[in-house]
Amino acid sequence: MSTAMQTRGAFDVALIRDEFPILEQAVNDRPLVYLDNAASTQKPEAVIRAIADYYRRDHSNVHRGAHTLADRATAAFEQARMDVAAFLGGAKREEIVFTRGTTEAINLVANAWGRTHLGPGDEILLTAMEHHANIVPWQLVAEATGAVIRVAPVLENGELDLDAWKALLSERTRIAAMVHVSNALGSINPVADMVAAARAAGAVTLVDGAQAVNHFPVDVHALAADFYVFSGHKLFGPTGIGVLYGRESLLDAMPPWQGGGEMIERVSFEAGTTFAGLPWKFEAGTPHIAGAIGLGAAIAWLNGIDRVAAAAHEAALLARLDAALAGMNDVRRIGTAPGRVAVASFLLDGAHPTDVGMLLDQQGIAVRVGHHCTMPLMERFGIPGTVRASFSIYNTFEEVDCFVAGLDKVRSFL
Ligand code: PMP
Repeated sequence: MSTAMQTRGAFDVALIRDEFPILEQAVNDRPLVYLDNAASTQKPEAVIRAIADYYRRDHSNVHRGAHTLADRATAAFEQARMDVAAFLGGAKREEIVFTRGTTEAINLVANAWGRTHLGPGDEILLTAMEHHANIVPWQLVAEATGAVIRVAPVLENGELDLDAWKALLSERTRIAAMVHVSNALGSINPVADMVAAARAAGAVTLVDGAQAVNHFPVDVHALAADFYVFSGHKLFGPTGIGVLYGRESLLDAMPPWQGGGEMIERVSFEAGTTFAGLPWKFEAGTPHIAGAIGLGAAIAWLNGIDRVAAAAHEAALLARLDAALAGMNDVRRIGTAPGRVAVASFLLDGAHPTDVGMLLDQQGIAVRVGHHCTMPLMERFGIPGTVRASFSIYNTFEEVDCFVAGLDKVRSFL
């Protein structure tokens, strides 16, 4: 049992931190302050151990071996799928497709669903705060099918202009794809409302949950989204693994998007090929077995944490940083939507974000600078990029103060 599990109900950030070995190091002779969690979270010992144990004891290819290790690897891989299904509020095994990440999951839908359901004049409704992963696959499929992309605007405070979004919904809208939580701004979109409105207009919905699942529980049935996608590496799990949840009836009607081993029932030059059932129809080739197992371990670890308390802790960290930034008259905040999560994006007068990032790194403080793969959003605010500090449950108030002091030091170099 992990230390965090023993403290269920009593959120103790020091105990949680202890489970993340990477956080215990010095960077540039200063204690590491890791505030780049929206890009990727760090991994608890339980996840690192699950991956190492799998390779030490159980590794084999999955699904087709008639021996003990193959059976063990298959059981662990498929158990991870069940863990993901439960994590998303009780989805079915058939509805959980493992992918390389959010990006691949959206490409899967854009190709397998988009190329069979979109035609000239059909509309794809996006928002101006989408990550490139939820823009470019749709641009590619729009070009191939003649479909048209519509983009709902973002208000000055970083909230979606919901009225404008609703006004863009029409009988021509075939799919509405929206980010649940913006990686650049932290704004939370009212996705349940948006899904309901899109469905009433006859459109299918895809929700990009890459920045949501690590901050609060997500129930795909309550949201009623047709597709929900996320990445393991932002959820304390490994890189190279992600999830596409898809409503069974939709997945069933979609053709495969990649062909190869693992996804077939029978292959014949004469009689053609028939495909495996769900979800394997969408998992061509040897999957990232260790990645799925690591993701299962991350979910088990997170299930041992009091998530309400964790969310309150993250909100308190953000409130402390917001208060400090609000008092700085050389700071331009980008994204101040009410109720946003874990992200503070801003510009410092007279400093390029890249220089700010470098000067912070010299003090052991890791943040992300640049466009955050949201170039249209940066364009909307007329800026090349921002400095982004993003929190996770293991961050501390001392780290917030250290970041604020770090900015003072940056100013002294300007
Ligand atoms: N969508 C959002 C909102 C993200 O934050 C990210 C990662 N920055 C992605 C999509 C892409 O995720 P990945 O690179 O893991 O596929």
